[in-house]
Amino acid sequence: MANDLAEFAKANNVKYFMISYTDLFGGQRAKLVPAQAISDMQKEGAGFAGFATWLDLTPAHPDMLAVPDPSSVIQLPWKRDVAWLASDCVMEGKSVAQAPRNTLKRLVAEAAEEGMRVKTGVEPEFFLTTPGGDKISDEYDTATKSCYDQQAVMRRYDVIAEICDAMLELGWQPYQNDHEDANGQFEMNWAFDDVLNTADKHSFFKFMTKSIAEKHGLRATFMPKPFQGLTGNGCHAHISVWDLDGKSNAFADKNAELGLSAKGRHFLGGIMKHASALAAITNPTVNSYKRINAPRTVSGATWAPNTVTWTGNNRTHMVRVPGPGRFELRLPDGAANPYLMQAVIIAAGLDGIRTKADPGERSDIDMYKDGHTVTNGPKLPLNLLDALREYDKDSGLKAAMGEEFSSAFLKLKHQEWNAYASHFTQWERENTLDV
Ligand code: ADP
Ligand code: MG
Ligand code: MG
Ligand code: MG
Ligand code: MG
Repeated sequence: MANDLAEFAKANNVKYFMISYTDLFGGQRAKLVPAQAISDMQKEGAGFAGFATWLDLTPAHPDMLAVPDPSSVIQLPWKRDVAWLASDCVMEGKSVAQAPRNTLKRLVAEAAEEGMRVKTGVEPEFFLTTPGGDKISDEYDTATKSCYDQQAVMRRYDVIAEICDAMLELGWQPYQNDHEDANGQFEMNWAFDDVLNTADKHSFFKFMTKSIAEKHGLRATFMPKPFQGLTGNGCHAHISVWDLDGKSNAFADKNAELGLSAKGRHFLGGIMKHASALAAITNPTVNSYKRINAPRTVSGATWAPNTVTWTGNNRTHMVRVPGPGRFELRLPDGAANPYLMQAVIIAAGLDGIRTKADPGERSDIDMYKDGHTVTNGPKLPLNLLDALREYDKDSGLKAAMGEEFSSAFLKLKHQEWNAYASHFTQWERENTLDV
């Protein structure tokens, strides 16, 4: 925490501030500002040409200013000369409605108006690859069931421990690190927090993990399905809602089914109702749909959902209630924008609470084996276009996320889909040449 960034620089020997914001596609954009110039920048913000990033602005728009939030400041544990700052996008004195951190802050405020404080934890899985990104970095990491592989995690100890040490230093309360289900895949977990803090930490975690991997001559990728046939990168979110002072968990009710209160059930009902539409945000790339709806992977399971169903402590469904007072949304993937995924969780959940939405009966089957027997849960979108159309049809969710945000997001994502669809593939040639 720092109120005066110039003082923070003096006290910590910071030479540069990295004033960073996240665009609609989740890209982090930054200016490196020398400490001696930070006082003005803290007030005015750093100037950017918005059109040059994914925000649906034109080259003719006035400068966009990224105003740093001093409470987010983090001195980079691996490069102490630099301190990172999340910032809020402003244009001509007005908050840029479609900028993801602004969208999330608006939804946090809406929840607060109804006495709710949403807290979440995220599990961003990633692969460590060679610098080119086309192969996993460890040629000995070949086991069929490689989850929790002790030798393989120790071969990457230098990278994993450096990231975990950083989280310890930052007070994030990390508590475990492991080799995940795919060869070359890892997961690191830290304590849940208020959604805005979680989103800032999630953004910073991606930046930090990529940077530390690069330092070790590797590359970290959060791409949803970087390797065909291997389990993809999920980014599950565990969700609970608290009273405004953050002390009492409104999702906890030890007398309710699975320990999830009526409020928790309604919030979950909202997530279930809007799932196919919110997939456009939680699974925002062409590649995302190769993770969900995927065929069985080498390890035997995809660990990703394909249908809108919920359950108790069973990892084959879209939503799992692992214990009392929270639930886990297993839909989001590594490409999900850290701010927008939290925003859409609140948007859907608030609607669920307001309309007293019913999540329906839980299902306890093994979805991977018996999923074909499900008749009461819709299939998740099969591709990005399907998801964008679902989002576009869901006028309630679009309005809750904000009309300006929604139209900017849909416009840019349709452009992305069109670029993909007009790209010629080897598959087409192989399957169409002899028609
Ligand atoms: P799993 O792999 O079993 O799904 P992890 O331990 O990897 O679970 O991650 C669990 C995440 O859920 C962590 O970020 C943790 O802090 C968070 N979490 C735990 N309890 C709650 C809660 N009540 N509300 C929100 N998040 C929670
Ligand atoms: Mg210039
Ligand atoms: Mg986990
Ligand atoms: Mg995992
Ligand atoms: Mg999980």
